[in-house]
Amino acid sequence: MGQQQTDPRWNDLIGSRSDERLDRPVAAVALSILGGVFVIISGALIASSGIGAESIVFGPASSAFVSIGVIEAILGLVVSVFGAYLYDATERHVDIGIVIVVFSAFAFVGLGGAALGGLLGVVGGVLAIVYTPAEDRPAPSDSLPRRVCLKCGWLVGPDAKVCPRCGHDFAEI
Ligand SMILES: [Zn+2]
Repeated sequence: MGQQQTDPRWNDLIGSRSDERLDRPVAAVALSILGGVFVIISGALIASSGIGAESIVFGPASSAFVSIGVIEAILGLVVSVFGAYLYDATERHVDIGIVIVVFSAFAFVGLGGAALGGLLGVVGGVLAIVYTPAEDRPAPSDSLPRRVCLKCGWLVGPDAKVCPRCGHDFAEI
């Protein structure tokens, strides 16, 4: 027994690898950025249609188009920037998700493509709010059968290489 001492570097390797595998709300990030870009584009189109129609038919209404378009573009910019920020600051997903939902909801009231973009943003923001980081979820090993260390009787996760209590190496039967 105990021919092989557990190499501490092996445990370090396992630990650092699981730390690097950080979960990201990819769907929320993608929908928010996509929705935000949709709103920016439609805002730009609305604004440019107002500029193009200036002094022809719409008259004073055209300046309203420009204003609405610029506001839409700003809303879309906020939504897409916060969508990208969500990827970096995933731990603040609730705050960021609320901002995305609020700004997307305003954009949703807008015209044409802004409504579609706003809808995507609202869905992305809601996904961000309800997002559960991997470390908060029950560990996958909880649902799998555990093994008992033959040396000390400790309950060990199914994917453990060595017993965390006594260091018994499971590779040696
Ligand atoms: Zn053990």
